[in-house]
Amino acid sequence: MSNDKRGLSRRDALTAMGVWSAAALAGEAEAAPTAGNKGADSAPALAGETAAAVTGDGEPSEASRGDFRRELAAMIDQTPIVDTHEHLLDEHDRLRGEWVSCDDWAFLVSHYLNSDLAAAGMPGGDISKFLSGEVDPIDKWKLLAPHWPAVKNTGFARAVRIALKELYGVEELNGHSVKQVQAGYEALRQPGFYERVLRGVANIESCQVDNFGAFRESRHPQLLLQDMNCNSMHIGPDVPGLAGPTGKEVQDLDDWHAVLRWWFDKYAKYAVAVKIPAAYSRGLDYEQVAAETAEPVFRRVLRGEQVTPVEQKLLEDHLFWFIVEQATKHDLPVKLHTGYYSATATCRWSAWRAMPPRRRRSVGGGPDTQWVFMHIAYPYWQELLAVAKHYRNAHIDMCWTWIIDPAASTRFLKSHLVTAPANKVFVFGGDYIPVECVVGHARMARKGVTRALWELVEEDYLSRADALELVEPLLRDNAHELYNLQAKSEQLRRAPWA
Ligand SMILES: [Zn+2]
Repeated sequence: MSNDKRGLSRRDALTAMGVWSAAALAGEAEAAPTAGNKGADSAPALAGETAAAVTGDGEPSEASRGDFRRELAAMIDQTPIVDTHEHLLDEHDRLRGEWVSCDDWAFLVSHYLNSDLAAAGMPGGDISKFLSGEVDPIDKWKLLAPHWPAVKNTGFARAVRIALKELYGVEELNGHSVKQVQAGYEALRQPGFYERVLRGVANIESCQVDNFGAFRESRHPQLLLQDMNCNSMHIGPDVPGLAGPTGKEVQDLDDWHAVLRWWFDKYAKYAVAVKIPAAYSRGLDYEQVAAETAEPVFRRVLRGEQVTPVEQKLLEDHLFWFIVEQATKHDLPVKLHTGYYSATATCRWSAWRAMPPRRRRSVGGGPDTQWVFMHIAYPYWQELLAVAKHYRNAHIDMCWTWIIDPAASTRFLKSHLVTAPANKVFVFGGDYIPVECVVGHARMARKGVTRALWELVEEDYLSRADALELVEPLLRDNAHELYNLQAKSEQLRRAPWA
């Protein structure tokens, strides 16, 4: 956690803000200024560093409390975030329309607001039309309008609305503003817009991207760091897909181990973490299974023969621990999806199927493996907090959560800070495919972190100085430390594709 990792110090940031912090942040305006939007003149007094004005009974005065809240909000706005989880396409692919169902403003609704629309009762056929390229972008509002009042206040919608405001200057989405929304979408969506959106507007230092594959050689290696998604290395497994690039022939389990080692030997030094979203298809109750037990099952899978669910689990369990061993050997933390499921309007998860209790069982493993439990296992975060409090190698990532349940996210963060060590939590991952929505989610996370720290000060649990001292670790330093980002960045500078 050396100083050079921190970039702007708190003092620098506050000095740079100058008059802007005093004027523009008055009342912690909804449309807080963006990173490139700061003035610079005389510096205001810093509430945390001057003697707090007190009332007759020794309580801080209203004015002093307001000053401190503004100071805290300003510091949180100015501190660059390390974004620990996204699914962003590479900009080049996005511009070519890869993975893009519709290249218009409705794309911002395609991940995740479409799920709330489905839950609100929007017919599947209308959702498909809305997210297709067949309907004129301006006419799409008519499809959305009947369902808008029901969803407009959820976290998923709020992130989109903030993005429309901060990126296109649109205050409210409606039949009149939809033209301005579409014009804004087209004007922004140009080469170089990822840098402008992520660093310029959202003040994000770097993102950690799961592109759903084993590894992506990104064209923006310093901005879009990559996870190794290891799902298909153990579920299935995808022998042709993963063995192909290695040029290795796979006839037995030893060969498959060699294929997996090839991926780790080639890419682990450039990757930030291993990502395993297996909870979408199975429980996390991975048992240690010896190679001799898994070998005959693997051979049968390879021949395309049917195996029983119990046999399939034996094989997956064995391969999971093989992957964890590789991750640990290469110093890569293992990120596990836990809790709530993402579902598109066309998926038909029932609530029961979505969250069977056994999927949230904690995972054991060696003490050298660093586990990151994603999405606070929402809604089971209290159990997870106990895990992070108890185990040195258990960490919690709040990625996705500020838009799933903003109120619970604030409660979680307050609980975490008074229960488990503060270096065990990461406070932001947008978890988005559309880069534009990251702006909205990041704004919600900054406001949520502000709220959590402010409330702990108001409740007399944290001192003002303690609250300010937590900002950089929460937004940035915790991630630098666990993911060794300085070294990764240097390594990536030398990557053959950089
Ligand atoms: Zn995700």
